Amino acid sequence: MIRTGTEYLEGLKDGREVYVDGERVHDVASHPALKPIVAAKARMYDLHHETPSLTFADADGTHSLLQAPPLTKEDWQKKWDGVDLVLRDLGGTVTRMGDETVGEMWSLADGRDVLASIDPRFAGNIDRHIREVVTKDPFHVSANTDPKGDRSRPVDQRDPDMMIRVVRETDAGIVIRGAKFETAAPYADQAFLKPTVGAWTDEKESQHAVGCIVKMGAPGVKHICRASFATQGSATDHPIGARFDEVEALVVFDDVLIPWEDVFFYRHTRAAQFIRGTLHRYSAFPYVLRLLHNADAMIGAAMWNARQTGLEKLQGVQEQLAELVCYREGIRAHLTASIALAETSPAGFLMPNQSILYAGRVLACSQLPVAMHTARELIGGQVCVTPDAAQFAGEAGEWLRKFYTLNECWDAEDRRRLLAYARDLLTSGYAGHRLAFAQFAQAPHFSHLAAVYRSFDFEGPLDLVRRAAGLSDQVMGKDKIGKAA
Ligand SMILES: Cc1cc2nc3c(=O)[nH]c(=O)nc-3n(C[C@H](O)[C@H](O)[C@H](O)COP(=O)(O)OP(=O)(O)OC[C@H]3O[C@@H](n4cnc5c(N)ncnc54)[C@H](O)[C@@H]3O)c2cc1C
Repeated sequence: MIRTGTEYLEGLKDGREVYVDGERVHDVASHPALKPIVAAKARMYDLHHETPSLTFADADGTHSLLQAPPLTKEDWQKKWDGVDLVLRDLGGTVTRMGDETVGEMWSLADGRDVLASIDPRFAGNIDRHIREVVTKDPFHVSANTDPKGDRSRPVDQRDPDMMIRVVRETDAGIVIRGAKFETAAPYADQAFLKPTVGAWTDEKESQHAVGCIVKMGAPGVKHICRASFATQGSATDHPIGARFDEVEALVVFDDVLIPWEDVFFYRHTRAAQFIRGTLHRYSAFPYVLRLLHNADAMIGAAMWNARQTGLEKLQGVQEQLAELVCYREGIRAHLTASIALAETSPAGFLMPNQSILYAGRVLACSQLPVAMHTARELIGGQVCVTPDAAQFAGEAGEWLRKFYTLNECWDAEDRRRLLAYARDLLTSGYAGHRLAFAQFAQAPHFSHLAAVYRSFDFEGPLDLVRRAAGLSDQVMGKDKIGKAA
């Protein structure tokens, strides 16, 4: 079953506890801070009913191909094409569409043996939830990051709620307490909650080692949203922030009951260790794909500006445009290669080549500030000093129309629109927020590098240097002993 936009909106009327600007929100879909992004999400649902290429059929009916575990290279290509189609229809980049969070559950299915060895009761839950995302089509998001508190203190000397914990067991399930930072949670159906980035080697922390599905409207779940960008100005002046602000919230879990059928593991550091090591095995792909779209937005804005102003003909400008293209093509090359050299996972899914995908994520995220700066330099300072649309329409508008008209092809309104778009993409408060999103929303930089370190096969370079330097044959063996120790 694929839900309609209306069914998604109806699902949000579950009495959920959402707060914006210090006040309780009574209707998520119509609140000005949430309305634009909720409408975008509803449109994604409706688009599936208009676009057969976004769907596939099996014995249970027709489903979204974005929600299904990938089994072939063709599946990945279809997902890529599907995301392109959806984002083109929306006219902007939305990261939390569900497809880049659902893959976290596929990673957990790859660890079925680990889960079964902890508690066989839970091994079936993950398979069922992966299937239910396909058949019931919920909007599924990700809950990783706890407030954590003062980490110079041992965990048992902090407020124990600083990291999500299981406070008790009941016949119906476990009861959890704590908080997580989550994008899109206020307008999502469910989140995969799991332990935050950490060493997860200390058994004392095991009360915090819990993985489960939480319904976003469950009693005790409170969404305390950050200030909105959607309400900071009109879409005329803020064409991105006013339409696509993916609202984050501190989601508080005030003794929330998680039914046994939604529990994947709890009180076990080995499961926490496993999931932290493999979490983005699949979901890094759609995350990096969004940064490819973002790169296209920067190239498009910079190139239109060069065309409007006639600067395109300058060699220096062409070189800077080429630098943006190298960033963009570097991302595309990593995504393409990660599918071409994809590997079969322990659960039988097709996972993108891990070393290439994680290296691509580091490229896309770490070089984003440089690419944004190049785009800013190309578009120039006018982007920051241009008056808003009300001024163009007002008493002094005549002067603005005079100085913003470039030639017979480019009138002042097209110039204003391009500069407003570029400002929201590159220099606005929303642009800064999205830069932080890219750097952190799928774990921070050190964690991205740790994933590269874990997935790259160092044996090839080691062997190359052993041979070239004439190191003794035993060196490789010694290294293995060192590792084993
Ligand atoms: C816009 C945005 C959206 C987000 N959306 C989500 C979401 O949807 N779901 C979710 O779960 N989380 C989300 N997050 C939270 C994000 O995952 C965290 O911000 C991130 O994991 C870092 O955690 P922290 O902010 O608590 O930083 P801290 O843990 O306090 O770390 C701060 C910095 O200290 C350094 N540091 C800390 N620990 C280490 C270490 N072990 N080794 C080396 N350096 C270290 C790093 O430089 C790190 O960036 C989002 C964050 C942002 C900014």
